[in-house]
Formats: sequence, structure tokens, C-alpha cells
Amino acid sequence: MILSARSLHLFSVRPWLLTTLCLVLAACQPSQDDVNSNEGNTDTFIRGKLNTAPVNIDLYDSDEADEQTFEVQPASNNVQDSDSLEEPSADEELLADKELSSIKQQPTENTDSLSSDSSVPTDRENLLAGKQTDARFCLSDTATNSANSVLEDCRRISKRLASVSFEACTSANLKAVGCASNDGFPLYVTDFPPLKSRTPHGRILVIGGTHGDELTSVSVVFRWIEKLNEFHSGLFHWRIAPLMNPDGVLPKEATRVNGNGVDLNRNMPSSDWHEKALLYWNEKTNQDPRKYPGASPASEPESQWLLDEINEFRPDAIISVHAPYGIVDFDALQLNTAPKSLGKLRLNMLGTYPGSLGNFAGINRDIPVITLELPHSWVMPSQAESTRIWEDIVSWLKKNIDTRDSASQQN
Ligand SMILES: [Zn+2]
Repeated sequence: MILSARSLHLFSVRPWLLTTLCLVLAACQPSQDDVNSNEGNTDTFIRGKLNTAPVNIDLYDSDEADEQTFEVQPASNNVQDSDSLEEPSADEELLADKELSSIKQQPTENTDSLSSDSSVPTDRENLLAGKQTDARFCLSDTATNSANSVLEDCRRISKRLASVSFEACTSANLKAVGCASNDGFPLYVTDFPPLKSRTPHGRILVIGGTHGDELTSVSVVFRWIEKLNEFHSGLFHWRIAPLMNPDGVLPKEATRVNGNGVDLNRNMPSSDWHEKALLYWNEKTNQDPRKYPGASPASEPESQWLLDEINEFRPDAIISVHAPYGIVDFDALQLNTAPKSLGKLRLNMLGTYPGSLGNFAGINRDIPVITLELPHSWVMPSQAESTRIWEDIVSWLKKNIDTRDSASQQN
């Protein structure tokens, strides 16, 4: 269902429309479009040589009303299952995390699954530790569903997500990474590589759809891909995975977890995984099936892919999109560089969890991780707001990520 005020030419009665929609959906937030912005700053985009298309005025004309798209609403059980209803408050979670050290550690069956009596580390252990190896984790033991093609998969994605048109998906230039989700859906990335004329400031990895019931986190990333298609200037080398958890997003009833029932943002091999992940799940979430961290760190093909990507692409920063807290979280060793706000989202550090990407990449690997929590899981932010968020991300990266000197020293 796509609801476009512009297409109806009914700006003057738009509040009526939205009020009606709010009643129907019973989950609608106040329109962000109603706040006109004059911050359509295009400075952060330097048009690339390949860009011959005219600037899309919709993205920048602040006088233009925005479309607001409602993603297909998940089944009612998922609405009730929303994070905002179930998650303890951020402060509670942070407190709970800190309290973990006082919980007596209980041995679990899984703790020993990775420990080896041999003094020679296995490929898996090397990969988990980020050591150089020729092996790729997710390719080693995951069957890919080669019958699927990008076109077929884009058809599924665009059918599922109202804001992602088939054309937007096919023009995203998605490439299968060679490994598939637990249920056999190929994982895809799109790359915006360095341009000959310019040394990029660094490598940036962008991830959407880690939690399958956060539909907007996929669609917003597709919007950003569209922007890069027009404006990629070589400022950064971007690698973008819009849909990390297809098993959770694509079924009619979206789920936070993957097809194996694992919370992918608790399955990353953070250094405290063995000590805390299952303990946390047992003691602090009361074995909430939505937050199951898996039987062992990086047990899932999706998290194995992400680990491979971090080991091989070596991002200088990671942008991970979630919903629906409506804040910006930041994990890094240098916390003083945290962005104060991105678009209307304000910084609110949630702390870390055993097995989370912020914990693993931000703390253990010292790769700054910006976690965006969009305000709603299935109501899209306006075009103006998603553009502002993107521009603010690029501005933050320009200010804080610049590896050109160290890159030239290595060469
Ligand atoms: Zn999430």
C-alpha cells in the first residue's frame, strides 16, 4: 500500500488524510513531513563523473511536500511483538548488562563447542579472531540457493516492501555474495567502489534488515542506494547490504530472528560471547525467543557473512540500520566522536550486548559502529528526513573517517 499525498494533489487536506490513516492503522506517528525543512544541504554530495542524470528535485526542494510511505504492516502478532513494547528501556538494558559480571557463570553445553584441545587454531577460530586466512566462513558450510536470480529476488523484495520498487531493487546492482540465509535466500551486497580520479576517505559498510521485523531499515537503505546511484563521487568506498536477514523480512509474518530462530545482533563473536551471551539470554531476557543468541558465536550463515565482510572489506566505519527506538547509538573505543544527531534522531547510547555488532566491531575491533534506530518499524520516514539522515551520516564520516594518509603510507 503506497499512500502518496503528492499524487493526489491534496496538500491542503493532508492532515485529514493522515488523521484517517492514523485511525485505520492505529500505529501512525505524527507526520514528519509537516515540519518543513530548509536544510536541504547538498554540499555533501559531489556529483560523480558518471552521473549524467539531473538532480532529483524531490530530494532537495524543501518546499515540496514529501511522500510518506507505509510499509506493508506486519501481521498483528508482529505489531505486538514490536521492540518498543517488549524491550526494557535502554537504561534498564544498560544496567542489566553491567550487572552481568555479578552473575555467577554457569557452564553451558555450547561453551565448549569452539574450544579446541589442539594448539593449532582452526580456520573457524582464525576467522573468529580476525586473523588472516584464505577461508571464507559462510561459503564453507552453507548451501546457496542458486536457482534464485536477482530479478526473482527483487520481485519478492519489492512485493514485500511497498517503498522498494522492482526498478529500485534491480537498479541497485545487487551481487550475490555466495552465501545464503538459513532458509536459502541469497545474501546480496552492492558496491560503490573508488573512482580513478579520487582516493576515498575510507571504506564504509552499511547494513539494513538485521532484524526482520524492522522493515523500514531495509527500505531506507534502498533509498540511500538510489542516492548513491546518482551521486557517488568516490568520497568513500561503500559496501551496502540492504537485507541481511531475508528469512525475517520476507515471510508474511516478519520476525526479528533468522530462519533458525537466532537474533543476528546477538550472534556476532564478541569477546564476551562465551561468557555472557547465553547467560544474558537466560537471566536477563527470560529466554526470550526473539533474542536467542544462537548455539555458538557466528553460528548463523548471515553472521558468518558479516564476519567475512568485516575481515575482508575491513571497513573504517559501519552504519547499521534498525528501528523503532528513534535514536542514534554509537559503539567505538573513542566515544567522544559520537554524532550528536543524524536528521531528527538524537544520540542516546544504549550500551552493548553480548554478541551485538556494536560490541564485536565497535569495541573488540575498534571499528566505529553507528546504529540508527528509525522511529518506526513499518512507517517510513519522509524522503526529506531520510535524506537529512544520509547527509548527516556523510558529514560525520567526512569529519571523522579519513584514512588517505595511512593508505598512502602503506602503498
Ligand atoms: Zn533491531
